[in-house]
Amino acid sequence: MGEKQMYDVLVVGSANADLTVRVARRPGAGETVHGSDLVESAGGKGANQAAAAARLGGRVGLLARVGDDAYGELLLDAQRAAGTDVAHVIVESGARTGTAMIVVGPDGDNSIVVSPGANAALTPEDVAAARDVIAASAAVSLQFEVPMETVRATAATATETGTRVVLNPSPTPDSLDPELLAAADPLVVNEHEAQQLAGGSSEGTPEDWARALREQGARSVVVTLGGDGALVVDGEGGTGRVPGVKVEAVDTTGAGDAFTGALATRLARGDSLTDAARFAVRVGAAAVTKPGAQPSYPTPDELPS
Ligand code: ADP
Repeated sequence: MGEKQMYDVLVVGSANADLTVRVARRPGAGETVHGSDLVESAGGKGANQAAAAARLGGRVGLLARVGDDAYGELLLDAQRAAGTDVAHVIVESGARTGTAMIVVGPDGDNSIVVSPGANAALTPEDVAAARDVIAASAAVSLQFEVPMETVRATAATATETGTRVVLNPSPTPDSLDPELLAAADPLVVNEHEAQQLAGGSSEGTPEDWARALREQGARSVVVTLGGDGALVVDGEGGTGRVPGVKVEAVDTTGAGDAFTGALATRLARGDSLTDAARFAVRVGAAAVTKPGAQPSYPTPDELPS
């Protein structure tokens, strides 16, 4: 096996079953309301990124943990259908698969409770056991829905083995570990996360926050701007915007994960950060035109031009 020939992208992260109910009115404390039929679909930031990258034709592996329950099966089936290699998904006997309980209100606004389940048991030992896999992948893609020491261990191993680190620090902590930030090439954040991580000031533009994050140590930065596309600060500090693609947005769940999975695949194939972001903006736009996270992810021939 050649140096980086195993995967374009190894995603190390979370897998959750998304359990979604729509309500006409959100219940208050102690109250019961009736909702729509339950929809169960595949989600979790890590699994989403892997599915997005694999559907686009990337060679993708997923290092994650699920339980030996029906939701674990659902998540594995979804990854296989997308084309992800699930050889490194650990099925933990007796554990519950991670779940996200999502209540969608009348305006499309989400309230979400995440129960980490097996995701909480993805450990630095799992990462150590996958060292050769990390070394043989062009990029690793990381998010923050698994224990922080596991994210740190993956970034450190990738840095040692010359594997590119794509870091989406979400859900966002108050501050970022400097070593993690220094490994990120790029750090991928939405506008809100960029502002928060750059120091919480409400002043300034996304360009200001992105440059601040690079000055704090990130090798490069991508800020997603919803319908307005994205902005890129590359390894030399060159800053530019990638315009959004006009589509009819139906459901933005998992759009950021689709963007990041697409970006990581293209970077692994040798694209410049700007070219990769241009492609990822089209993938994110396609993902908002259909409901759900993974069920909304496009194949190359489903992309808007
Ligand atoms: P997040 O979902 O993480 O908050 P964004 O809202 O910035 O991130 O969306 C991520 C990407 O999804 C954007 O860069 C864009 O490609 C796409 N996207 C999101 N919302 C829209 C929209 N309304 N129209 C077109 N594309 C969108």
